[in-house]
Amino acid sequence: DTANADLAALIRTIPDFPKPGIQFRDITTLLLNAEGLAATIDRLATMHDGPFDLVAGIEARGFIFGAAVAQRLGTGLLLIRKNGKLPGRTVGVDYALEYGEDRIEMHADAVVPGCRVLLVDDLIATGGTALAAIRLLRKAGAMVGGAGFVIDLPDLGGVSKIEAEGVPVGALVAFD
Ligand code: 5GP
Repeated sequence: DTANADLAALIRTIPDFPKPGIQFRDITTLLLNAEGLAATIDRLATMHDGPFDLVAGIEARGFIFGAAVAQRLGTGLLLIRKNGKLPGRTVGVDYALEYGEDRIEMHADAVVPGCRVLLVDDLIATGGTALAAIRLLRKAGAMVGGAGFVIDLPDLGGVSKIEAEGVPVGALVAFD
């Protein structure tokens, strides 16, 4: 049943994707499982103390979980997207990748100042993406009241970076 669903068992590991040496944690198998999906949304939605005014999902897998969590919490959904995808006036943040740089953006008018946001993504590794998303939301005037992930890779240290920002963090499953 939903309360006992073993989410780790529903996540598939694909070796050497997208490049040699990477163990990719594939959440498509979790999405295919009705109980697993329901339990994931339930646990993400109840992990942090609300209330939240909005849920923010990070492109692309964060949109899937974010939309369902928002519906469950009775909030709207804010999209944090890769560079150049949003049609309106945007605010953006550049951040470093392992090789090179990337940029995430949101619509500048998506939040009212002080609005309390729950950030959602599928996985936290180094924390670079989530940290950039927190900076972006703050730049737009939002208050990040929590960050929730389906998967944490604790060896990569992302969670402590987010905690250092004063944002409560949680993940449902951890993989070495
Ligand atoms: P970070 O910025 O914390 O190093 O990486 C997290 C981002 O990379 C997330 O947006 C996540 O979707 C993606 N990511 C990195 N590795 C994996 C993986 O093994 N599985 C999945 N599903 N996403 C990953």
